[in-house]
Amino acid sequence: LSFADLGLPEALVAAVAQSGYTTPTEVQARAIPAVLAGADLLASSHTGSGKTAAFALPLLARLALPRRHSGHGARVLVLTPTRELAQQVEKSFRTYGRGLRRLKTVVLVGGMPFGPQRRDLSGPVDVIVATPGRLMDHMQQRTVSLDGIESLVLDEADRMLDMGFIDDIRAIAESLPASRQTLLFSATLDGVVGRLALSLTHEPQRIEI
Ligand code: AMP
Repeated sequence: LSFADLGLPEALVAAVAQSGYTTPTEVQARAIPAVLAGADLLASSHTGSGKTAAFALPLLARLALPRRHSGHGARVLVLTPTRELAQQVEKSFRTYGRGLRRLKTVVLVGGMPFGPQRRDLSGPVDVIVATPGRLMDHMQQRTVSLDGIESLVLDEADRMLDMGFIDDIRAIAESLPASRQTLLFSATLDGVVGRLALSLTHEPQRIEI
């Protein structure tokens, strides 16, 4: 099984090859076709499983489709528990997206000044990678528009809940278009995170690794 077999476009297959990957990991093999098709997803998978590429590659592919909403706001929103993970995820989008024209990614995390983030948000944006608290700050200041979001990713959802972000996550999800695609990645899918997952997704495919 190759990345091309999963239905990814040539530019992304080339980027993956340049990264030195030859074979999709299990979570990639199962998630990529589902995400490409626009499905919601609940995936139990941890760091090291290749989960970042499992959502970044198909979401980059979907950016080639026409916008579903008007405006020039971001189309993909990824929430992560920490600044470091947000920066890593954004770097993955840029690395895999290097063959795509004019991909614009923005990181919105706490502990960093607002000025550069506001400037980043003032032009066209494709992908926002954010921690929940700082994204809420931008929503309250009306410096971010979420009207164009087509896909929401909750990365390491269990860790976000451990860090007390559940109310922020609910508020963020409620301010997104209801028709969005939602992908949730978590070490576990039971208990509180399982209930959150079911409330935020629509007929999700489950991937348990
Ligand atoms: P992640 O689980 O997303 O944190 O990724 C773990 C590591 O695996 C990262 O350093 C990736 O660059 C690497 N990786 C992701 N997908 C593959 C793959 N298909 N083959 C080899 N390495 C990969």
